[in-house]
Amino acid sequence: MEVIKDDGVGDRIIFGDGTSYHEWRGWSGLQSLRQLDLVTCFPEGRRVLIIAPHPDDEILGCAGLLQQLAELKRDIVLVSVTNGTQSHPDSQLYTPHQLNTIRPAETHAALDVLGISHAVKRIALNLMDGEITAQQDWLYKALRKLISSDDILVCTFDKDGHPDHEATGKVAQQLASESHLICYQVLIWAWHWAAPDDRRIPWQNALKLELTPQQLQDKNKAILCFKSQLETDTSTGQAPILSPQTIQRILLPYEVYICD
Ligand SMILES: [Zn+2]
Repeated sequence: MEVIKDDGVGDRIIFGDGTSYHEWRGWSGLQSLRQLDLVTCFPEGRRVLIIAPHPDDEILGCAGLLQQLAELKRDIVLVSVTNGTQSHPDSQLYTPHQLNTIRPAETHAALDVLGISHAVKRIALNLMDGEITAQQDWLYKALRKLISSDDILVCTFDKDGHPDHEATGKVAQQLASESHLICYQVLIWAWHWAAPDDRRIPWQNALKLELTPQQLQDKNKAILCFKSQLETDTSTGQAPILSPQTIQRILLPYEVYICD
C-alpha cells in the first residue's frame, strides 16, 4: 500500500494515474469557461512574472501563455523558486548536485524549442526543492524585492495538490493582494486529482487560454526537453515523474488560470 504523507494538501492527493485527458476533453464545462483575453489581461507596458516552483512548471502550465505573451512583445520574467534538485531521492544518475544544473538547463532548452528564450529573463531564487512550505517567509521576502507596482503575477494554484505548488501560490497571492496586483494561478497537478466539475476548483473564477495546434505541438516538444523527468531511474527504479498520461493530460488545448 502506498503511504500518503500529510503535507497540508488535504484531499488534493496526487495518486495513481489521475483523471484522464479524455475525461477532461469530454467535459462541456471546460469548453464553456470564459476566455482569457491577453491584450486586456496583460496590457502593454506591464511586466509579467511567471513564478514556477520547479523547472518544468513554467512549461507544463504556461507554455502557450509564454508563447503568446512573447508574440505580443511583453516583458517576461521567469522566477524559478527552486532548481528541482530533490526529484530523484537516492539516485546515482541524478544527484541533487547534478540536478541543480540539469533542470535549469532543461528549462532553457524548452524555452528555445518554444522560440522564446530571447524574450524570457530567468531569475533563480534557489530555495530548497520540496521545502517551499517551510521556506514561505524567504519566498515572500525574495518576491517582495523583485516585484514592482506594475507587475502581473502568474503562479501555481494555491490548491494544486503539490505542497510546493500550493505554498508558491499562497505567497504570490498574499503579495498580490497586499500590493494590489493581478495574479493568475495556473492549474497543473489539479488536472490529476480533480475531476470534471470538481467543487474544489473555483471554476467560476477560471479563464481558459486556447492554444493553436502549432502551439500545442511546440508545447509537447518543449516538455520532451525535461529528460530527467521523463525516464525511469534505473539506479532506484523510480518511475518517470511525468508519466505518458500526465503529459497527454497537460496537452489539453487550453491552459486554465484562476483569477479571483
Ligand atoms: Zn512543480
